[in-house]
Amino acid sequence: MLLEDFPSDIRDYLEPKPQGHPVYECLSCSKQFPTDRLFYTCPSCGGLMMIEDPDFQRLRAKPGSFWRRLFDYRLLYNRQATRGVFTFHEFIAPSLPLEDLVYLGEAHSPVVAAPAELAKEVGASFYFKMDGQNPSASFKDRGMAAALSFLKHLVRIKNLDTVIAVCASTGDTSAAAALYAASLGGSVKSAVLLPKGRVTPQQLSQPLGAGAAVFELPGVFDDCMRVVERLSDKYPVALLNSKNPWRVLGQESYAYEIAQQFDYRLGDIVLVIPVGNAGNITAILSGLLKFHRAGLVERLPRILAVQSERANPVFLYYNTPINRRTYAPVNVKPSVAQAAMIGDPVSFPRLSKLAADYEKAAGEYSFGVVEVNEQAIMESMLLANRRGLTVCTQGGECLAGLRAGLIKGLVSPLETAVLDSTAHALKFVDFQTAYFEGRLSQEYGIVTNPKLANRPRELSFGNLKVPAVNQPLRPDDEDTFVTAAVGKIAESLGLSS
Ligand SMILES: *Cc1c(COP(=O)(O)O)cnc(C)c1O
Ligand SMILES: [Zn+2]
Repeated sequence: MLLEDFPSDIRDYLEPKPQGHPVYECLSCSKQFPTDRLFYTCPSCGGLMMIEDPDFQRLRAKPGSFWRRLFDYRLLYNRQATRGVFTFHEFIAPSLPLEDLVYLGEAHSPVVAAPAELAKEVGASFYFKMDGQNPSASFKDRGMAAALSFLKHLVRIKNLDTVIAVCASTGDTSAAAALYAASLGGSVKSAVLLPKGRVTPQQLSQPLGAGAAVFELPGVFDDCMRVVERLSDKYPVALLNSKNPWRVLGQESYAYEIAQQFDYRLGDIVLVIPVGNAGNITAILSGLLKFHRAGLVERLPRILAVQSERANPVFLYYNTPINRRTYAPVNVKPSVAQAAMIGDPVSFPRLSKLAADYEKAAGEYSFGVVEVNEQAIMESMLLANRRGLTVCTQGGECLAGLRAGLIKGLVSPLETAVLDSTAHALKFVDFQTAYFEGRLSQEYGIVTNPKLANRPRELSFGNLKVPAVNQPLRPDDEDTFVTAAVGKIAESLGLSS
């Protein structure tokens, strides 16, 4: 839409000007530090950092209705810098100037309703938010858009030559980090650390394709994380893991988009989120609280976090009565929800603080956690796939979580659930193949249900001449072949003419 066609009260605000002075705030000692450099942990006590906007009041000077209108109109404003996560610039990274904002097409993922018949089978109506429809095919792009915008800003104002951005990953963080770093060109190079054999071939191909230095280490994600932390303590690198609080800001956009997609009415909604390193759920809680504080949403949705019973430290914590809760990491076992296969979530301190804040704002039982088994994850994913919703294994985990929540009474059949398909189904397609071929029983304890297994159907043509590449058949042989093929396919499909 042309600028002159926007309502006059909106026009001046479409293009945000840098404002506010966000600070790093330590979760442990509450000390604050200016955001003129990159911090991951508190220089004073080593605690985890969040970015706070001490002047949040200024956003409350306008009514919620103003922000709702502005953000809805901004979707019609055709300027790259205010797209994606920066549609919500004032709530995400208000101090960054437009010239530093990075946009690669992230953060416009659709919410898609489950067909009525599937909703009935599950016991509640629900949507999937298809976050696999991001540039590197997972929600991690949201966080990287913010983190790399800040890095671009630092490189520019500090005149830095080269920065090496590093991360450890269960696959998707490295894909996103490598992609966004690559978009900045020569000044930012990326290096990623992956647990060997614990990322899918598709995920491995992504940082390789983006030109990153890729290191495959023995062990699981938690081991890679310890290496990357030591590396960033010893050398001047930019850490792009969840410790980097800028990523949390970008990932808040998931909550903002859902608010927008449901006309800011979230009262009867429950968001179902898979939890690994707990960065995503932290960001979603934080974003919802901000929109609530600024009056954009009146009633907050309920939150249901989901973990596999093979990587469940967050479930174990919240499943204990409040006065006896102590956090303890777990040793993970192989899970098909591999991107969430984390035993010692880095963002746990953020989550426990925000979940408590959230319950204060949204009421008792507004935050819950369930665990699900591997069989349920796989079968839920296949069930969704078979009804037109192509979701990843973590999406399957959410659907399994919704079903568990309904059975346990944590979700009411009258609520509408919004499930997070955190990545594209194709990143995890090898698990599907392995399930169909009955290869998941040993390592994952998953038994193949023959009703859900699907394999290519072989047709045998005996001695008949069949075509091959660069060897077309003579017309009469071709005709014989086609007739035979039609007969065999019709038989296999049970067709009668
Ligand atoms: C990273 C990731 C998760 C887990 O998110 P956290 O922020 O680590 O809790 C879930 N699904 C996919 C596809 C991921 O890439
Ligand atoms: Zn501190």
